[in-house]
Amino acid sequence: MVQEPTQDHLIGTIVDGRYMVRSRLARGGMSTVYLATDQRLERDVALKVLHPHLANDPTFLERLSREAKAAASLSHPHIVGVLDQGEDGHIAYLVMEYVKGHTLRDVLTEQGALPPRLALALIDPVIEGLAAAHGSGLIHRDIKPENVLIADDGRIKVGDFGLARAVSANTSTGALIGTVAYLAPELVLGQAADARSDIYSAGIMLYEMLTGKQPYAGETPIQVAYQHVNAVVGRPSDAAPGLAEDLDELVQWCTAADAENRPVDGTALLTELRHIRTTLTDEQLDHRQGPAPLPFPPAVPTAATTTLGSTAGNPTEALPTTVSPTEFISPQSNPTTIMAANGPSRSLAKGSMAGADMDQDLRQPGKRELKRLERQQAKDRARAAATPVRPLREGNPGRRGVIWTIVIVILALLAGSAGWFFGMGPGSPGTVPDVKNKTVAEAQQLLRTAGFQSEPRDVFDDDILAGLAVGTEPESGAQVRKFQPITLFVSKGAQLFALPTLTGGTLAEAKTALNAAEMALGNVTEAFDEKVPAGVVISQDPAKGTEVRHGTPVALVVSKGPQPIPVPDVRGLAQDAAAKALQDVGLKAVIAPETVNDKTVPKGSVASQAPANGNLFKGDTVTLSVSKGPIIVKVPNFVGKNADAAERELRKLGFEVVIKKDVVILNLVLVQNPVNTDVPEGSLITLTVV
Ligand code: ADP
Ligand code: MG
Repeated sequence: MVQEPTQDHLIGTIVDGRYMVRSRLARGGMSTVYLATDQRLERDVALKVLHPHLANDPTFLERLSREAKAAASLSHPHIVGVLDQGEDGHIAYLVMEYVKGHTLRDVLTEQGALPPRLALALIDPVIEGLAAAHGSGLIHRDIKPENVLIADDGRIKVGDFGLARAVSANTSTGALIGTVAYLAPELVLGQAADARSDIYSAGIMLYEMLTGKQPYAGETPIQVAYQHVNAVVGRPSDAAPGLAEDLDELVQWCTAADAENRPVDGTALLTELRHIRTTLTDEQLDHRQGPAPLPFPPAVPTAATTTLGSTAGNPTEALPTTVSPTEFISPQSNPTTIMAANGPSRSLAKGSMAGADMDQDLRQPGKRELKRLERQQAKDRARAAATPVRPLREGNPGRRGVIWTIVIVILALLAGSAGWFFGMGPGSPGTVPDVKNKTVAEAQQLLRTAGFQSEPRDVFDDDILAGLAVGTEPESGAQVRKFQPITLFVSKGAQLFALPTLTGGTLAEAKTALNAAEMALGNVTEAFDEKVPAGVVISQDPAKGTEVRHGTPVALVVSKGPQPIPVPDVRGLAQDAAAKALQDVGLKAVIAPETVNDKTVPKGSVASQAPANGNLFKGDTVTLSVSKGPIIVKVPNFVGKNADAAERELRKLGFEVVIKKDVVILNLVLVQNPVNTDVPEGSLITLTVV
């Protein structure tokens, strides 16, 4: 039993007015886990509190919140349930169902290698929990014995979804990675993780359960990481002679370096695991390594049981540490009692009961061997079908990965210390600074100061002036290992596009063309146009072919058709003057061939026009009829004739008549003026009567 060195000031306090902290259960890499009482629901809960020095770090707050969300989205008997999450003053916390018992790490520390029957019984619910997570699109990313909780009543639960991610999320630039001893090669290489990365970790864990050792040992985490990428996990039976060949195969299948060669997910592994369980003999299942271990003292875990990334910059935690919370280990809770009360192992036992007849048959060595061979062949076929044939040429991702690893390892060795490498060196995570709108030199300096190498790349940008930084990939704020190159995007100004032709069609057509070219509609005005029909676009500004940036407004002028011209009244004007007046407003004068007599309009002037009013359009014609003056009539002579008759005759001929008389005796015309001559019709004729 290890006594906690200092009294924890949280113990005895109430967090968030609800959770009474009772005792400390364990101290993990990022948090301390307490036993607490939920005073509202009056039940025991496990309270995970972020270490105070991390409580202000957004990375860890995000990790805690991710854990809450990931685990809360899963409700499964083999996954530790998350009940609540919150912050109280400086404390960020997570409330989980309390699993009273210990971890798989405690069991391994105490027991060393486990008999296959126990190992399979313990890993079965873990894989079932994983299968549920995978089924919901989540990957755990930190499968290891410390995160497998074993309750005193035998329930087994996967905990610590702090590194869990959605499968679809881009996990390749994540700064935090799991424990190096269980880390899948693709995660060492900083590539994306998927369900098969969890399968790899589970395979390493199974190896350790069966042999009591981890497959890769090394002085430093980097040496272990290197082996994950470049070595092949050995057969468990090499480390623990006498183990069934099927178990070797299972472990090696899970730990294939190429994820393509592993079971696709938890469900696939679970099926195989249970199948193998039914084919093993009692002898194989109860196979034991060496002498039964003493319960105390616990063995010291291997040096590789350290976390990367999450502990970078924290020198005490970067060193190999004893991770088992010893207060969990008590003589009463040794694995024998776990076995006796183990739920999943009971259900497994039931499973093998159902298959008892088959087991009976398989006891005969010949049949069993045949069965095994068939299964092996089927598996080989499935794997061959799932393995893409890929030549190892330059640029091959696998080869590049190996080169990266070699580079990392050489760098680390040069530095003399893997601690330096992952703590402060190129392997340590840093936060990408914000370089937007900085000059290239300033941006590169900022990135250098933050420990990154950057590679400039020119891009068009509508908003940022040419020559200034647009941003980076990965984006600012991202946590990135410093050996990863950062792309620095430098603006070459807005990209310009030639404007299309917008004239000649309707306004609607022009709008469609503008949309297609990702330009905006500017001012639209209307204008008369003698040639372009009404509704058709006459002109655009800027003109077609002008190079502009997207979103530029383009002004359009739409035709109202030709301009109407009110017809001027030119009657009475001399012919030339009338023609000029019409020409001045854009109309054409046409002179009618026939001149006409007109009493009032003098000869040579316009007597009439057609049309005489209304509107015409430019170039239309107005026909002018020119006067040849009034009709000329010969005046007959009525001198000496009866005045009344004379007057009557003259009026009949259209003349005006004025009678001058003094004393009338004879009533005869004495004088007529004018007389015997040609005069315009309607002229005035004076008659003097006596
Ligand atoms: P970390 O993210 O710090 O690794 P974990 O969730 O793995 O945190 O918890 C650390 C340790 O706390 C575990 O290994 C286990 O010993 C203990 N623990 C975690 N969750 C519970 C729980 N729900 N009930 C009991 N003990 C727990
Ligand atoms: Mg943990």
